[in-house]
Amino acid sequence: MSLLVLCDHDRGTLDEASLEALTFGRDLAGKAEITCEAVVIGAGADAALDSLAAHGAEQVHLAGHDLLTDYGPEAWGETLTQLVRSTGATAVMACGTDRGNEVLAHVAARLDEPFVANCTDITPGDVWTMTRVQWGGSLLEDTTLDAGIRVVSVTHHAVEATPADRPAEGSVVLFTPDLGAEAARTVVRDRVVLTQGITLATSPVVVGGGRGVGSEDGFAQLEDLAGALGGVVGCSRAVTNNGWRPHSDQVGQTGTRIAPDIYIAAGISGAIQHWVGAMAAKNILAVNTDGEANMVAKAGYAVIGDLHKVIPAITEEIARRRG
Ligand SMILES: Cc1cc2nc3c(=O)[nH]c(=O)nc-3n(C[C@H](O)[C@H](O)[C@H](O)COP(=O)(O)OP(=O)(O)OC[C@H]3O[C@@H](n4cnc5c(N)ncnc54)[C@H](O)[C@@H]3O)c2cc1C
Repeated sequence: MSLLVLCDHDRGTLDEASLEALTFGRDLAGKAEITCEAVVIGAGADAALDSLAAHGAEQVHLAGHDLLTDYGPEAWGETLTQLVRSTGATAVMACGTDRGNEVLAHVAARLDEPFVANCTDITPGDVWTMTRVQWGGSLLEDTTLDAGIRVVSVTHHAVEATPADRPAEGSVVLFTPDLGAEAARTVVRDRVVLTQGITLATSPVVVGGGRGVGSEDGFAQLEDLAGALGGVVGCSRAVTNNGWRPHSDQVGQTGTRIAPDIYIAAGISGAIQHWVGAMAAKNILAVNTDGEANMVAKAGYAVIGDLHKVIPAITEEIARRRG
């Protein structure tokens, strides 16, 4: 009996979210007394093998095929389904990213099994009991899963990715699925690099700006502070709606979920749809003229004042202390 954990990567660079799922899966498999095995699909996947073993994958299934060079939801879903059937796996898991949930939805449909998405906690047994995130993070729901094959995703940032106390063997098994043309309905035609180096999702420092920043140009002050702290700039949807920043900078339910060491939220009211993307931050500093703003209430630290004075003052103080 085994748990298969789908690990996402881009030409061999593992997605940190997949290592979270593997960390979660390793713990779950230990409690359920089943083996924890990783699945990597597509070109360059072999570059991820050492990391998967270090994070507790007892076996790694390396799936390759001409149609699997880059991501494709039908092709990945069909591959994982065939692997579940051929290994006799009793559970299959991925991180609850857009991709993870998309692939598992295909797997569940093909297996004709239920799919429980975005779990934060799972207790195995004859029937699994679990807590999962609903409504973009504003509701935690307790539920049970009674299925022949359990298909579950783990909500992003539910656990930290940590290597196993002792690396697993990570023995590699090659798998070639039987894929027809219908598996290639959705394919990657072009690869465009939007960001290089540190990203919004992984940056240890995020300086976020909301409608209170007032204009596209107003973000220069936030860029300066982010630069001084080695971080990146994020924003609210009010900002992307105004065209001041691209959607790739948006934090929230319909943007990126962040988990930095510190999130500086300037001129952001803290609406629930923004908060669900920011709530995994370890520390939050709110800068707002409104002491009653939701973001101020939720933040560990707050400065009540005009961000156009407060943000440059922080940047200047950092420069002064660094001499
Ligand atoms: C389905 C759906 C999905 C959504 N998804 C997202 C999402 O992913 N991300 C997201 O962010 N939103 C999302 N929203 C929108 C969300 O509901 C809010 O409308 C949005 O987050 C508000 O952005 P804001 O905080 O920048 O603006 P506002 O709510 O207008 O807040 C501006 C804040 O700036 C403060 N302020 C003004 N001037 C200054 C100043 N000079 N100095 C300091 N503070 C100042 C004000 O006191 C206020 O608190 C979504 C909404 C829906 C319906």
